[in-house]
Amino acid sequence: MVRRQSILEERKKSIIDKASFCRGDGSGISCGKSSVSGAVSQRACMFSGARVVLNPITDAYHIIHGPIGCASYTWDIRGSLTSGSDTFRTSYSTDLRETDVIFGGEKKLEAAIDELVAQESAKLIFVYGTCIVGVIGDDIDAVCRRAEEKHGIRVIPVKASGFSGTKSQGYKLACDAIMQLVEPYKNIPKVKGINILGDFNLAGEMWIIKSYMKKLGIPVVSTVTGDASCESLLRMPSAQLNIVQCAGSSTYLATRMEEELGIPFIKVSFFGAEDTTNSLIRIAQALGDEAAVRKAVAFTTEEAEAAEAFLQAYRPKFEGKKAAIYVGGGFKAISLIKQFNEMGIETVVVGTQTGKEEDYEIIEHLVNENTVILDDANPSELEEFMLEKGANILVGGVKERPLAYKLGIAFCDHNHERKHALAGFEGIRNFTREVNLSINSPVWEYCR
Ligand code: SF4
Repeated sequence: MVRRQSILEERKKSIIDKASFCRGDGSGISCGKSSVSGAVSQRACMFSGARVVLNPITDAYHIIHGPIGCASYTWDIRGSLTSGSDTFRTSYSTDLRETDVIFGGEKKLEAAIDELVAQESAKLIFVYGTCIVGVIGDDIDAVCRRAEEKHGIRVIPVKASGFSGTKSQGYKLACDAIMQLVEPYKNIPKVKGINILGDFNLAGEMWIIKSYMKKLGIPVVSTVTGDASCESLLRMPSAQLNIVQCAGSSTYLATRMEEELGIPFIKVSFFGAEDTTNSLIRIAQALGDEAAVRKAVAFTTEEAEAAEAFLQAYRPKFEGKKAAIYVGGGFKAISLIKQFNEMGIETVVVGTQTGKEEDYEIIEHLVNENTVILDDANPSELEEFMLEKGANILVGGVKERPLAYKLGIAFCDHNHERKHALAGFEGIRNFTREVNLSINSPVWEYCR
């Protein structure tokens, strides 16, 4: 526990420093809990968690049943790419007003679904109930059921009132919605191939992973949900194996699919040379495909050597530099610490919005003695520890960017707004270049 007057008493158990309070098994940090009231958490709400997972389905329609403010989580701040439909780039909202709150919003929702079906020939609609809908008690289950019967399409409710849980519970709601979608297809015959879970095709990263699978001779049955379509998702139950990239958002889905569809899963990560190499070999091994294992070993050996040669040229530029990491899930924080190690940069602050004990256990083993580890941090804590530990760069998402810039610290977006692919061996080069450009920019000399 970090004992500091400036830290709220209720937050102290969620901040540890390795030297004084790590137990080595992740149990020393309080995580997976609701945010502390008044602490102004960096964590997004439950609805946002659900939206992050479902929004990348390219030909799905998303109706935000709530006030227009909730609908601001649009494609514009998400950036998943598509090889097909771009329907998912448009958001829809019932824009609930005061009279709807008094008299109920069900009729307005029904009308919105009817209008969407009439105008857009929608095949799949997700209806998100946000905070106010939970308060006024609109029966969105019934509205969606009636709409399915009336229009003969899938209309799936996602009851994601922000106040009723954490962002992680929003992920679960999205996973439940996907399971509801594939329910009628649960018993389709198995085929050779894998599903890729927990990659949202940011900056085209799903395409990189798919290209690796092609090199290894491993067919991809379905992607969940980056660059997915309604039709491709329905093939999901036929895969032999699930690989889970974003464990925080998609392990629950993988677990349900293992229990209900008999599809085993492994967790993977395609960030950094070490994790990309291990993941590709482990996927081939999990399929019991000897030829794929040989191809994976040959491919990753060649690519890792090339990446190492590339990194060697950059390491002198990173000498003495320190990084702070604040990301959504534990899997990415773990990969980033390893990636910074590969680059010769020490991680001095690391935190996540939704990390679990098992994630923090790995993080504790990876970081140095004086590293501060935080769960569900707020801006004030991040700023304090970045300054105290002398971080030269913060890696985070859209909400963390201004914190770094206000302190005159370099920043790299590793979240939904990133414009360059950061996954795979291509991602190593892009990430290294971006970190170098930001961390060694002359602009920081002019900041106080
Ligand atoms: S009103 Fe509720 S559901 Fe909407 S953005 Fe805010 S917390 Fe999330």
